[in-house]
Amino acid sequence: MLALGGRVRIVAGIAEFYGGWMGNFFASRPRPFCFGAITLGHVILDTCLKELIALRAHEHVHVRQYEQWGVFFLPAYALSSLWEVCHGRNGYRNNFFERQAYAAEDKNNLQTSRLNEIANDTH
Ligand SMILES: [Zn+2]
Repeated sequence: MLALGGRVRIVAGIAEFYGGWMGNFFASRPRPFCFGAITLGHVILDTCLKELIALRAHEHVHVRQYEQWGVFFLPAYALSSLWEVCHGRNGYRNNFFERQAYAAEDKNNLQTSRLNEIANDTH
């Protein structure tokens, strides 16, 4: 990704790659093949810095899930999606692991919103 113009940051021991040709490539794919970010162990691949910042809390939950589940994470993730689809629900948004990640993302967005309110009040 670096060879194709991307950049990298190390945050809390996690390598966060973003941007460049690959970032543009994944961002411009038609649904369902486009994505903002993907986590593979302690590596996050993101389309751009703005998406990386917005999705960091979410993706860091997936890193913790990889740590907890080890080699069973990807099969468990797939089984959770399959379970949801078999029960007529969305296999991504209702996935057990995604629900945990979205909960962290929502909590982070709420905290950011409150910090912005405090910052605006002091000016
Ligand atoms: Zn996710």
